[in-house]
Parts: sequence; structure tokens; C-alpha cells
Amino acid sequence: MEQLVFEKSKSGRKAYTLPVCDLEEYSSQSLLPDKFKRQTELHLPELSETEVARHFFGLSKLNYCIESGVYPLGSCTMKYNPKINEKLASLDGFANLHPHIDEDSAQGALRLMYELGESLKKITGFTGVTLQPASGSQGELTGILLFRAYHLDRGDTKRNKILIPDSAHGTNPASSTIAGYQVVSIKSDSDGRVNVEDLKKYCDDTVAGFMLTNPNTVGLFEKNILEIEKAVHGCGGLMYLDGANLNALLGIVNPADMGFDCMHINLHKTFSTPHGGGGPGAGPVCVNDKLKPYLPVPQIEFDGKKYHLNYDLPKTIGKVHSFFGNFLVFVRAYAYILINGTEGLKEVSKNAIINANYLLSKLKGKYHQPFKEFCMHEFLITGENQKKFGVTTKDIAKRILDFGLYAPTIYFPLIVHEAMLVEPTETETKERLDQYAEILLQIADEAEKNPEILLTAPHNTPIRRVDDARAARFVNVNYFKGETKG
Ligand SMILES: *Cc1c(COP(=O)(O)O)cnc(C)c1O
Repeated sequence: MEQLVFEKSKSGRKAYTLPVCDLEEYSSQSLLPDKFKRQTELHLPELSETEVARHFFGLSKLNYCIESGVYPLGSCTMKYNPKINEKLASLDGFANLHPHIDEDSAQGALRLMYELGESLKKITGFTGVTLQPASGSQGELTGILLFRAYHLDRGDTKRNKILIPDSAHGTNPASSTIAGYQVVSIKSDSDGRVNVEDLKKYCDDTVAGFMLTNPNTVGLFEKNILEIEKAVHGCGGLMYLDGANLNALLGIVNPADMGFDCMHINLHKTFSTPHGGGGPGAGPVCVNDKLKPYLPVPQIEFDGKKYHLNYDLPKTIGKVHSFFGNFLVFVRAYAYILINGTEGLKEVSKNAIINANYLLSKLKGKYHQPFKEFCMHEFLITGENQKKFGVTTKDIAKRILDFGLYAPTIYFPLIVHEAMLVEPTETETKERLDQYAEILLQIADEAEKNPEILLTAPHNTPIRRVDDARAARFVNVNYFKGETKG
């Protein structure tokens, strides 16, 4: 590996050729008052084009991505996204469409959004949809604002709480709080599912709703869902499904049938958009008839001939995103759904579940499995067995990097010590899963015989073990000539 020298600038080197400035006005400096003129030299790196290209190519090689290998981040669904969808999203008519263009000239784009919405309704069993939210968490916020609009519209002003299981993704309490609600944490049972008795204790006329992830964040299906639904609806609350990760349910379980009133779907997890690194996503929200009147505007409608933007929803919560949302993410999802079709999507989920159970079956002898059941699209194991040798889940995760692979999600969910949440996804072959299992088993072996190699891992990465706190607090992504900050 090339040594990591970040500073490559040499004074006088250039990667560009510009024509000589021949504008009299500018060179005479008469137009710009002195006080606006730069007093100090602009510090930019000076490199030849070759070195610029090598610099960025080198950085790209430091990045781990799904094209590098298995990326089993539980809950995040880091699966392979077909490249054809990237190509479609970059078509001129999609990529360069101006959001202010008139309806007549954007019929194709409106049709795509309309049909994507219809597909998502079909997949989830709901009757209303908005594509606007730009992420799962923004979808949650939108959904909870819909809950609030629903209750207030009925003159039901006492409801100030959202109930959330203690295994939930951190965005659930965050979005509920931003929407102005108090969050009540509901305990999980020893089998990893919602403790229904604990939930029932809180079900009263101050509850606006219950937010649930199903399959939940320990990879299990909440089989008491109908009893939960009864308790929540029984006290006048609404049911929210965190469907960020829909990889286990496609064509198998219909979320509306489980008694939910509303859900969001992360297109960037299940429906083909590369994510991570903060790129654009989309978190469409699907609702049943109860919540439809409050959906964000505009709604996209079809009168049999033409597609329209309807802003005339008297009870709407308004807009939650400029224009219509992240359109090019819709293009990818639309293509993904069309290419797979109903049967193909079902295969996606079946294979995601089979792959997860296959990998789990290989690992559970060596790694502690807190909830001993078959899993859905992801599974939970822990580093509990390895603790007695003085190593933690973090050490195991760091050691995985030495083999050129990525670690699973660790220390989430919070309810299980030393957690590793593993989601291999449907896009991995048996050989890749075998290889991943072998490496994890070898690491378990090393933990026993040579724990030091884990404690000091990673050994083969460009940067060795970093100080987490420092790395997060003193992120340095700027160029300062001649200085290293932080
Ligand atoms: C990813 C995820 C979210 C948040 O989605 P973002 O698009 O990252 O905001 C919420 N809940 C669960 C269960 C998730 O996996």
C-alpha cells in the first residue's frame, strides 16, 4: 500500500491551463473596491493533473463498499444495487429535468412518481402515500406529524406520548421528540420481543401512537402484533411501522394487515440506492384512509389521461421537502420494482431470510445467540463467549477488517450486551457467506488462543486502530496548507 502522505502540494505546479485574461476592466482593478479584495494568498494545493487524479483514485481505494465485499451491517441493508438503475437515473430526461418545469412537460416524471407510489401501496397494503421525505428518519417525523394532525382534527388534544420499544432505532425517539411528543420506552421480553404487559400499562387516552419495527431490531418477527394492535387502537392510539428495512417482508407479509396505520420505507435500503456517506435517500410514507387527508402536498393524481399535482388538500400538514423529494432515488426504486416484479421481490425477501439463517447456523456454535430462534433477514449474536478471554465485540469487529471485509453492526440494539447485528442480504453467494463464516470462526479461535491479535487489530488497514472519541470529535476534512489540524 502506498504510504499515506496527505500533503503533496509543491509550489508552482498546476493541473490546469487557462487563457490569459484579456479584460481591461478586471486587470485595472477599478471595479472592485479595495476593501473587498483578498489580502492574503488563497491557499490551494498545487499539483499536476496526474497527481490530482492519483490522489482521488487513492482515496477511493481506501473506501470499503459493497463492490469490495460482504457488508453485513444489520438494519442498514447494505446490499448490492444493480448498476442498470444507476444508468437509468442518469438518463438526461431524468437527471436534467428542472423541478419548476410545467406539468405538461413533465408527464413522464409524474407518471414515474405516481406509479412508484401505487407500487409501494400495493407492496404495503396501504391506500395513501407521499414520496417526499428524504430519509427514514424524516419519514418517521412526517408520520408522527400525521398522527398529530389526525388527533387534533378530532379535537383529541390530550394525547402527548409516543410509545417506543427499548430495542428501537435511535431515530424513533428522536423524530417523536422533534414532533413535540414525550417518549415512553417499552420494555422488551426475555425472548427479544415487546413485553405486551408493559405496553398495556401505558395504553391510555394520552397515547398518540406506538412505533414498532417489525421484524424488530434483534431480527425477530413480533408475533404478538395483533394483540399489540388491539391494545394500542383500544386506547385510541395509532400504530406506526418503522419499515426502514423491508427486506424480510416483500410479498410475504402485508404491513397494513398487521394493523399499522402508517409506515415509512427506506428506498435506499430495500429498493436499490447506494447509501452510506450521507448521499441522498428517500423515505416514502404510506398510510391508510384514517391518515390520508393529512398527507403532504402536492399529491400526484391521474385522471385517466394526464398526471396532475394536487395542492388542494385542506387538512394537509404541508410540505416536508422542497419540490417532490429526491427524484433520482425514485427512478432507481421504480426500475428495481419493475425489473423484479411481484415474484422477484418475494424471492428477494426469501433469499435474504435464507442467507441470514444459513450464516447464523454456521456461527451460533462459537458465538452466543441471545434469542435462540430462526431469524428473519438479520440475526443477533454477541461477543459474550469471547469476553472471558479479555476481548470485546469491538475487538472482533476490528479484527474482521484485517481480512479485507466489513464488520457487522455492533453495540446495536442497546438491549443486548456486546451485540453484533448481522444482515448478509440476498445478494451474497453461498461461497461469500462460507468465507465470512470461516473468518468469524477463525477470529473466535484467535480470541481463545491469541487474544492479543484481536486487542491490537486492525493490523492490515492503512490506519490502525483509531481513538473513537478523537476521530469523531476532531474530524479533519479540510485542506490547510502546510498545517495538520486536530
Ligand atoms: C436506517 C434505519 C432508520 C433511519 O433511516 P435513515 O434513512 O438513516 O434516516 C430508522 N429505523 C431503522 C430500523 C433503520 O434501520
